Amino acid sequence: MAQPPIPPPLPTKKFQCFACGNIIEVPRGMPKPAACPRCGAPLMAIHRVDKGPPGGRGAGRRGAGGPGGGRGRGPRWSQ
Ligand SMILES: [Zn+2]
Repeated sequence: MAQPPIPPPLPTKKFQCFACGNIIEVPRGMPKPAACPRCGAPLMAIHRVDKGPPGGRGAGRRGAGGPGGGRGRGPRWSQ
């Protein structure tokens, strides 16, 4: 009985559209999606979410001067 070989799960990168909260999974080696497939938000609204060691690049406290801080790492804009 020959079972069809199950390919190992491809490593994927995860991005989240901060405009609609959509999670976009992209196989490794593929470029970051140019736009959210769901809402069409531009690249700047799409951020990597599966990576990012806590405290990797400094605390990021630079006083961006934007309303609401802007640079939250958590999925705060779930809607
Ligand atoms: Zn979106």
